[in-house]
Amino acid sequence: MSFHPPLSRHRRAVMLSAVAGAAGLALGPGFTRPALAQAATPAAPFAAGNAATYRFQLGDITATVVSDGLIGGPPAIYASDAGELELGEALRQAFLPTDHLTLNLNVLLLEMGGRRILLEAGAGQTMGPHGGRIFANLAALGLRPEDIDVIVISHTHPDHVGNLRAADGGKAFPRATVFAPRADWDFFVQNEPDLSYMPVPEDFRRRFGAAIKRSVEPYAASIERYDAGDEIVPGLTTLIAAGHTPGMATFLVHSGDAQLLLTADLAYHPVVNIDNAWIPGPDRDKETAQASRERIFDRAAAERMLVLGFHYPFPGLGRMLKLDHAYAWVPAYWQF
Ligand SMILES: [Zn+2]
Repeated sequence: MSFHPPLSRHRRAVMLSAVAGAAGLALGPGFTRPALAQAATPAAPFAAGNAATYRFQLGDITATVVSDGLIGGPPAIYASDAGELELGEALRQAFLPTDHLTLNLNVLLLEMGGRRILLEAGAGQTMGPHGGRIFANLAALGLRPEDIDVIVISHTHPDHVGNLRAADGGKAFPRATVFAPRADWDFFVQNEPDLSYMPVPEDFRRRFGAAIKRSVEPYAASIERYDAGDEIVPGLTTLIAAGHTPGMATFLVHSGDAQLLLTADLAYHPVVNIDNAWIPGPDRDKETAQASRERIFDRAAAERMLVLGFHYPFPGLGRMLKLDHAYAWVPAYWQF
């Protein structure tokens, strides 16, 4: 699965894709698609015919993980305080490539209270060529974009809002009411954000900011701003999880005794941010993000909650086990 670039031209492409992975950008005209695709793609990412949706029941709520595809980048981006040798060893022990960490895009469809709700919109093509599959995967469930009533975004990074804009510049989900956290809307959309905390070149930061504004623009006039902690509809509550961005929320879905906790981007991949507690490089306020991570992981572990990670290996469901000085990710068993 690992991609070992034999030529310096390819090394340069890998470096560029590293930056693209961090910055969440479709690269500009100076970078050719074939080189990018080759560098960003560890072998063929999709095996034809495998399921890209996963349905399960939460009390009265029918929940379905609907994949929007894959993004990713150099592992060090997602484990900013890891030593190079330690990180390589952890990845090898998990039978993962050491030069590229694949991240999933696990959008959750909830059918509850007569509404169809998406938690996150997905990346579309804003973070490389392997996102944007949600439309085909909704179609496989017999659903069209106009069947979606509500979309709730945890934070406004491009991989969470990229699908909102249709190719013609209009609303990709024409009937949906879109909810976004107020603090993120103020920071990324209403203002010119200072993104100097991101470990990427200035040019990429600029385009990162532009990708957000461009993606949400069709909904700018109708956006519903929420404060982390608000209930969106009965059975769907947002939880304060700031740090990664100013307004990031995580989600709690509940019906009767059944609960599901979504961790948004508190962690990118269980191997580097749960089993090993390395700090994601894109966290804006790393101390606050760390406090959010511990508070929410502690709750998930104490209440033995079912957890869904937006970027965890598909379908992204499992539980948090609290160990003496760390957590362990325990994937849920597949339900037929
Ligand atoms: Zn993300």
